[in-house]
Amino acid sequence: MGQLRSIIAGLVASTLLSPLAPVERGHAAAARTMAKPGPKSKPKPPAPSARCEMPKFRIVVDVGHTPDSYGALSARNDPEFGFNFRLGTLITAKLRDQGFAATRLLVTDGKARPSLFKRVSAANDGRADLLLSIHHDSVPDKLLETWEFDGAMSYFSDRFSGHSLFVSERNSHFATSLLLARMIGRQLKEQGLHYASQYTLPVMGRYRRQLLDKDLGVYRYDGLVVLSRTRSAAVLLEAGSIINRDEEMAMNSLERQELIAGAVAAAMAEFCGRR
Ligand SMILES: [Zn+2]
Repeated sequence: MGQLRSIIAGLVASTLLSPLAPVERGHAAAARTMAKPGPKSKPKPPAPSARCEMPKFRIVVDVGHTPDSYGALSARNDPEFGFNFRLGTLITAKLRDQGFAATRLLVTDGKARPSLFKRVSAANDGRADLLLSIHHDSVPDKLLETWEFDGAMSYFSDRFSGHSLFVSERNSHFATSLLLARMIGRQLKEQGLHYASQYTLPVMGRYRRQLLDKDLGVYRYDGLVVLSRTRSAAVLLEAGSIINRDEEMAMNSLERQELIAGAVAAAMAEFCGRR
């Protein structure tokens, strides 16, 4: 009877424990699960982000926004989508040159919200290893000031500048996403670029974020669909502020674009070299 009771207790315990397992997320949890295979169990194939062979590693460079829903407007009234497209194209080319032959540029059309799910589907269906979403920054409306550009009343804010990186704790490869974001952040810092520190300030209101790396400018952004719903690691790069009049000019220069694309490519090479 005592033996039967302990068997039943064991069954109950395993039934109760198993639904908890999917709650554990991230790379560390996956590693723990894989660390103890039963003696007869087949070795599991590694998770998509668990290894890195440069020619096979599938990076999806996602151009933020769409031609119809173009994102922010720069201080000189140029849509963010164009900045994202130009930089995304250059980053894709640099990654391919570096040996990441399976890198692809993802351009989405249509309205804002459906386009987010199109991006996630494209990354998931293409079995991406990394989604890197490219954006350019603005400020909350209340911070905008006016000036005249090209004969038209236009908006600007020179108060903040710099790039920033975002990852989601809801992403199933959060640890890898954070590692990648830090590597990109470090490369950008080594190029002499600074990150946008304003996301921790009260003035940012609903755009306020938790700073995960105060040296390298990596923020947590759980609510973002492209970061949280993608099954691969995912990082969003706000490459710079286009509402800042000086930084907009810098972001328009091939020199700055090359600097950022080179930093991303160097970070990815470092990531693959470590695995
Ligand atoms: Zn954007």
